[in-house]
Amino acid sequence: MNEFITYNNIEDLDSESKYLIHKAKEATAHSYSPYSKFCVGSAIILEDGTVITGSNQENASYPLCMCAERVALYAVASQFPGKRIIKMAVVAHKKNHKELAPGSSCGACRQVMLEFEQRQHNPIEVIMLGPGEKWVKCSSARSLLPFGFDGKVLH
Ligand SMILES: [Zn+2]
Repeated sequence: MNEFITYNNIEDLDSESKYLIHKAKEATAHSYSPYSKFCVGSAIILEDGTVITGSNQENASYPLCMCAERVALYAVASQFPGKRIIKMAVVAHKKNHKELAPGSSCGACRQVMLEFEQRQHNPIEVIMLGPGEKWVKCSSARSLLPFGFDGKVLH
């Protein structure tokens, strides 16, 4: 399987991916982003079909801000422990703008995705809107972070 597949049109994605993008868009309504004014939403689908969403949560103490991806991933870990994550979608838009903006996940979120992937011994597909308004489907978190920190060195 290719590590990345790009799509010029959202309609070319599979129905599950389109649904997750839709849920991620909905989640941006709960973004708390008064500082960046950049609303991010994420949606995760589990092996049993459950969908969990997250949105970015900012704070006046900027380093405390949390990305939408990690809000959703930690919700999965705490509310659905042991359930395998199949896929996640991430979308973003500027506040008061309807059209989506390219919003690639930051390095910290990629590192967290990677460890979730390692814990469940299965890849997590990641879908995001890349540059040039192309949708990007990544086959795994590993493909997004080839040389991520591996906790095994701590043992
Ligand atoms: Zn992030």
